[in-house]
Amino acid sequence: MSQLDRRQLLKLSLGAAGVLALPQLTQFASAAEDFIRGPRVKDHPIQQLSPHVWMIYSPDGFPTAENQGMMANITFVVTAKGVVVLDSGASVQIGEMAIRMMKTITQKPVIAIFNSHYHGDHFLGNQAFIEAYGKMPIYAHPYSLEQIKGIEGNTWRNLMERWTNQATIGTKVIPPTHPVKHGDVFKYGDVTIKIHHYGVAHTPGDICMEVVEDKVTHVGDVAMDDRIANMDDGSYVGTFKTYKALSQAAGEQLWIPGHGKPKKELLQEYGEFMAGIYETCVKAVQDGVDPSTAKNLVLKDPRVIKYAKRTKGFEGNIGKYTSLAYLEAEKEAF
Ligand SMILES: [Zn+2]
Repeated sequence: MSQLDRRQLLKLSLGAAGVLALPQLTQFASAAEDFIRGPRVKDHPIQQLSPHVWMIYSPDGFPTAENQGMMANITFVVTAKGVVVLDSGASVQIGEMAIRMMKTITQKPVIAIFNSHYHGDHFLGNQAFIEAYGKMPIYAHPYSLEQIKGIEGNTWRNLMERWTNQATIGTKVIPPTHPVKHGDVFKYGDVTIKIHHYGVAHTPGDICMEVVEDKVTHVGDVAMDDRIANMDDGSYVGTFKTYKALSQAAGEQLWIPGHGKPKKELLQEYGEFMAGIYETCVKAVQDGVDPSTAKNLVLKDPRVIKYAKRTKGFEGNIGKYTSLAYLEAEKEAF
């Protein structure tokens, strides 16, 4: 549906408000919601990263009306059995764009989706793939599955609509169907996908997906490139633990982050930035320094300075994520 159609429809529904009694209006509004859809998302190039892995890179890290929620990378694993999607984007429109791009490189159907965690930019595109290819397994950590099925699913859908000035409207929450756990292995003919989970990192339910034959691992938001991570229900200590365990288990990999460019040094670089925040807070707690002074120390840390300029969202979020680091350091010290 074009933007014009949508506007006309909204006008129609507003116009109807004067003549319809309330229950009918409510009925009309919910029926209208079923076919009002935000505009399509412009094409973003799809690029090959390894023999089986392709990715649509998102240049932006945060949702706006202009980017219509295009804020996270979408990864495709093209196997002998079909295409496996690792994180599906932030809206049905983004999922539809991803399918258009995917069709330029393969005619194979999508056969499975993995959602790295419960944040909306990683699962709200599920709907597009289900609508195009029918029912298929959608895998996630049990924690993420429960969050998406529960209140978080709809919360993220609503937030994304608000952040994009309604551009994602028409998106439905399609939750994961199958829980996965650390060590699970999926065979798709010539390609093996191995699941890693080492406890709380970015969220309590992150999974990293290793494409074994290609030495490529999609890490979701456990690590990022040029963007600061939401740490609201994450853990700094858990993140460092995850990096160590993941590197030991998988060895050298091309790491694909949910946000930013894939690179071999991803965990090392983002780990250095996170350590600049967390270790400074640990020292501040040991020295009995208060949180606001700790923030100033973090801002002066050479590791933090090194990444600050190129890190999207740094200014707006460093205060909040420093206090979270400080709280965690206090808890750990206790
Ligand atoms: Zn994300």
